[in-house]
Amino acid sequence: MEYEAVIGLETHVQLKTKSKMWCGCANSFGAEPNTNVCPVCLGLPGVLPVPNDEALRLTVLTGFLLNCEIPRFAKFDRKSYFYPDMPKNYQITQYDKPSTANGYVEFEFAGAGSTNDLSRVRITRAHLEEDVGKSFHFDRNSGLDFNRAGVPLMEIVSEPDLTSPDMAYEYLNALKDILVYGGVSDCDMEKGMVRCDVNVSVRPVGAKDLGAKIEIKNMNSFSGVRRALEYEIPRQIAVVKSGGKLIQSTRRWDDVAAVTEQMRTKEDAHDYRYFPDPDLMPLAPDDAWLAEVKSRVVELPLARKQRFMRDYGLPESDAETFKNDVPLGDYFEGIAKHSKSPKAVANWVINNLRAKLSESSSRRESAPTEASEIDQSRLTSAATDVTLADLKFQPGALLELVSLVETKTISSTAAQQVFAEMFDTGKCPTAIVQEKGLAQVSDTGAIEKFCDEVIAVNPGPANDFKSGKPAALNFLKGQVMKLSKGKANPALVGEILERKLKA
Ligand code: ADP
Ligand code: ZN
Ligand code: MG
Repeated sequence: MEYEAVIGLETHVQLKTKSKMWCGCANSFGAEPNTNVCPVCLGLPGVLPVPNDEALRLTVLTGFLLNCEIPRFAKFDRKSYFYPDMPKNYQITQYDKPSTANGYVEFEFAGAGSTNDLSRVRITRAHLEEDVGKSFHFDRNSGLDFNRAGVPLMEIVSEPDLTSPDMAYEYLNALKDILVYGGVSDCDMEKGMVRCDVNVSVRPVGAKDLGAKIEIKNMNSFSGVRRALEYEIPRQIAVVKSGGKLIQSTRRWDDVAAVTEQMRTKEDAHDYRYFPDPDLMPLAPDDAWLAEVKSRVVELPLARKQRFMRDYGLPESDAETFKNDVPLGDYFEGIAKHSKSPKAVANWVINNLRAKLSESSSRRESAPTEASEIDQSRLTSAATDVTLADLKFQPGALLELVSLVETKTISSTAAQQVFAEMFDTGKCPTAIVQEKGLAQVSDTGAIEKFCDEVIAVNPGPANDFKSGKPAALNFLKGQVMKLSKGKANPALVGEILERKLKA
């Protein structure tokens, strides 16, 4: 019998707010331990929480971005448990009345049997809760840092719609892209801003009922999630194939040993004794508030990529580049809107401008800090942000350059020279062409002379071409271009050479 995996993810994301969820302490990373704390987030007796408005908005904004329903009634509940990093002995969360529910994420992944390369995963809910502190264990004692206690945290729960480790990985990346685009979270993995619990079971292919759910904790990157699943799924299949029975349980991923190990079974599951927090009013968003939040909805990454391919006729790789580098994509679009050759504009922006920018930024900043594995492959840190803003030339200059090439006023070789000059000096392309005499020679008379000369001094290659070696033409063409100092119209050169050699 063949088995298939069923996966659902619970993703915790730190919200991008200035202050914590219930108090005015800073929501910031990397401060000295216990410097961003107050009686409220330390859970001292008698204090009262005041909800962070922006956190409420960002949660509902996430609901909109994930196509969720936004109920007109939501509330906060206490989830009771004891753990030293949580001084109140309960976590405030949303239990049965979350702020958002029943949405979906669409992302690029060609699932089994899918006709296109998109997959859809249903979102059960995205609800608001608070983070806890952090424990540190030393030789003979332990320490607690409460800077993170009470930081607004959103939990995004998926339906068990994922079917493979790769699909889970792509879902997480898509979710991260959406949250970063939407300004909901920076999703910086290195700073622990995204954490994910994985639920996975196996069942005979085609079966309706779900198998026993096993939850895996302690992955600290998206690729860690993928590796944990790559280990856990075959393990579960091996158990059931050998006649064993899986029981609902929680396992811990050991990233070094690359295995999951049993933590607890359902028997020792907690009873959290959820009840509505009496210190917090229920939430009843009204039309005006919802409209205000909705006005912050931005175009999503996938939609942007698809629009760039559709509206500007870009190949997928270019559109992907502009999806991942938002400032560069915006810059491209500002020019492409006015151009008849958006693809040519994209080539200049990606191949030339971006290269120049990274060159100059690596010259300015010394050793760039090493980005995490995930940061590199996805939304790259905006190394180009700063410099795009202080380009010496106007966007219109790039438009002009493209049209100089399109109208064959200059050759593509000369265009490279013009670009380098306009990047360094900010002069306009036409002026540079005039100043440097780069206008392309399309005067056949002049080109004929160059061709005659090249054929005369290169009898070998000329004969090679005549005796059926077409590659020899490129060599001769190169010689003519050289002789004309790159100014001859290459298409004309080719034609004239061929005509002369075949004569
Ligand atoms: P709990 O009540 O233990 O929190 P839920 O039913 O709320 O469990 O589900 C938590 C997560 O586990 C969700 O992401 C859900 O999609 C996923 N899940 C639930 N049942 C299964 C299963 N049998 N196999 C895989 N994932 C599951
Ligand atoms: Zn505080
Ligand atoms: Mg649940």
